[in-house]
Amino acid sequence: PGFAELGLCPELCDAVSSMGYTAPTSIQREALPPALAGSDVIGLAETGSGKTAAFALPVLQALLEASARQRGKVACPFAVVIAPTRELVLQIQAQFQALGAGVDARAVSICGGIDMVSQSIALAKKPHVVVATPGRLVDHLENTRGFSLRSVKFLVLDEADRLLNMDFEKELDKILAELPRGEKGQRQTLLFSATMTNKVAKLQRASLVNPVKVQV
Ligand code: AMP
Repeated sequence: PGFAELGLCPELCDAVSSMGYTAPTSIQREALPPALAGSDVIGLAETGSGKTAAFALPVLQALLEASARQRGKVACPFAVVIAPTRELVLQIQAQFQALGAGVDARAVSICGGIDMVSQSIALAKKPHVVVATPGRLVDHLENTRGFSLRSVKFLVLDEADRLLNMDFEKELDKILAELPRGEKGQRQTLLFSATMTNKVAKLQRASLVNPVKVQV
């Protein structure tokens, strides 16, 4: 199947072909149909598998759908993506920008190594997607006036095993507490991890509702 058969809308099919993606990767074939249909998904996949697009495309499609329903007036941030390192955050944000350029989606990166003030200014401009490391995101939740996660409809936890190995549990709990609840259908969540550990299973129970599990 091509991207269109997996449920991707025409605008985003154009975006993937302009990136030079001719066919979906295995993780995209498995994860896109349930994620595009609105399910929570847990994906076991390594870096290099194409997992970034496997979560970025459902986020962007949900954003487009919300924007069409609400005549362009989507509350922002619409989506939050959490990843363990600065390098990963920057890569994910770049992919969101590339895939989302044609549909006017704006993504910002929030991580250590860049000053809080310029990041606060970027957040005040109400980006659709915030890609962040847990520590810096909590820092902004506590210190940046006017910034909250109340509007978030979509959460992505990337490299969950590494997030937990790096002892980000406390920060993740704080972030989850600030988000609309998945149980009430107010939020869709995708979790990606290279491995399934006890800690990942615990995070899964705390953050996903009836997830579809996919593995490559
Ligand atoms: P990731 O696993 O998300 O880090 O992706 C690894 C690399 O594969 C990135 O450079 C992507 O741009 C690229 N990529 C993702 N999906 C596809 C695809 N369907 N076809 C070709 N390249 C892809």
